[in-house]
Amino acid sequence: MPKTAQRPALIERDRGLLWHPYAALDGPAPYAVTAADGVHLQLTAADGQTHRVIDAMSSWWCAVHGYRNPTLDAAAADQLGEFSHVMFGGLTHEPAIALAERLVAIAPGPMAHVFFADSGSVSVEVALKLAVQYQIGRGRPQRQRMLTVRGGYHGDTFAAMSMCDPVGGMHSAFPGLVAGQLFAPRPPQASYGPDGWQYDEEALQDWESAFRELAAAHRDELAAIVVEPVLQGAGGMYIYPPQCLRVMREVADDYDLLLIADEIATAFGRTGRLFACEWADIAPDVMCVGKALTGGYLTLAAVLMTERVGSVIASSELRALLHGPTFMANPLACAIAAASVDLITTHAGEQVARIEGELQAALAPARDLPVVHDVRVLGAVGVVQLDRDVDVPAVAAAAVRRGVWVRPFRDLVYTMPPYVSSAEHIAAIGAAIIGATCEVYR
Ligand SMILES: *Cc1c(COP(=O)(O)O)cnc(C)c1O
Repeated sequence: MPKTAQRPALIERDRGLLWHPYAALDGPAPYAVTAADGVHLQLTAADGQTHRVIDAMSSWWCAVHGYRNPTLDAAAADQLGEFSHVMFGGLTHEPAIALAERLVAIAPGPMAHVFFADSGSVSVEVALKLAVQYQIGRGRPQRQRMLTVRGGYHGDTFAAMSMCDPVGGMHSAFPGLVAGQLFAPRPPQASYGPDGWQYDEEALQDWESAFRELAAAHRDELAAIVVEPVLQGAGGMYIYPPQCLRVMREVADDYDLLLIADEIATAFGRTGRLFACEWADIAPDVMCVGKALTGGYLTLAAVLMTERVGSVIASSELRALLHGPTFMANPLACAIAAASVDLITTHAGEQVARIEGELQAALAPARDLPVVHDVRVLGAVGVVQLDRDVDVPAVAAAAVRRGVWVRPFRDLVYTMPPYVSSAEHIAAIGAAIIGATCEVYR
């Protein structure tokens, strides 16, 4: 019997039963995914129509190798034949060790220790605990605040949320529950193209003085600087000069703060470097990775730290890092992630460099649309910023009719395509973004 015979359509069964991200129970109907393969999703719309679309979102930036990738499928099947999960308290296993070995080998700077967490937000929580425990180990337990910049996004759990942009984030919905972190101004905007990095030198100097002053004034309260290197993702797909990271590195060194790089969105080649920190030639003390880590197969994140950070905590009174999720270092996820990292180190550099050029070409015509405020590309990230908030369901539906899945937010229609996208796929994504924008805002 076919799976759906005699049953109401998937979307009907979903309605009122399932919450979707940041959506009302009676919000716009979702599309049902019935199959996925390579860069394509098979969708059924609420009206019963079916669409085969290119996933221009890589499933929220994770599925970089495409769906049903033979290498990742094989890694998953092999590990299923061994064991899917065991606790990590008192036990260890090959998949966790092999993945950690790979991560420390490719990370920017000398990373020595790895903590596996079950999602990006949780890895940020762990990084914050680590920063506070580091300061305790250094005899400064009063240092518990984080310094970050406006416009960021670090996740949806409470501590991660406290570092998201205080206006664009969820601070106002949970007053009293969100920790009071210290916010420096947002770095000036930059663009990257064939002529390298472009930005306003004076704006950069102003930002630098403001950042240094703020850090100096609060040095005795601060545990760490937390930042998304070069590209602020969910906070606005905003690109800023790598030079800002060098300033943060210096400030962190001046006051013995940890520099925590949240590379959950940017790691593994997305910005055109294996890690976005490489744009600034800096090494963080702590780095969070997630999203593309498993190629979108399973949820997994990792916190990497230097030998120095590890040794301060190890020689403190607590000695242990005070965290330990049930699904820590899940073997199935780790085995797939090791295969994903191997694909990335072999292919991503070349794939992303090609996609960057193709995105530049595919999105350039958007500059001529009256409703378009800015078009920017960095690595395999292509952004069309409108002069108003996007009508998300209308633009998404118009793109679906053109064979492409996008999920705009705020004033942004953007793509973070799978690395396995062909030149034709990228051209189709660009055409659909422009066509859908024109259709909705003609
Ligand atoms: C997505 C994201 C997170 C949160 O990761 P989840 O897996 O959704 O918890 C944190 N920081 C950055 C920069 C992200 O892009």
